[in-house]
Amino acid sequence: MKDKDKDKRFRVCPACNGQKVERISRGTILKTLLFWLPVQKYYCFKCFRTFYRFGK
Ligand SMILES: [Zn+2]
Repeated sequence: MKDKDKDKRFRVCPACNGQKVERISRGTILKTLLFWLPVQKYYCFKCFRTFYRFGK
């Protein structure tokens, strides 16, 4: 159950706290430059913003 809570917290928009967040693929430049970084790009359907999160 702890893993589920962790996953839930991970998928919350930092701008509006909306939970309609989907992971999208990083841009080509980011992929090339930051391939060694565990950065993930997310898109929020509530406030229409994209944001990055660190972590695996
Ligand atoms: Zn949002």
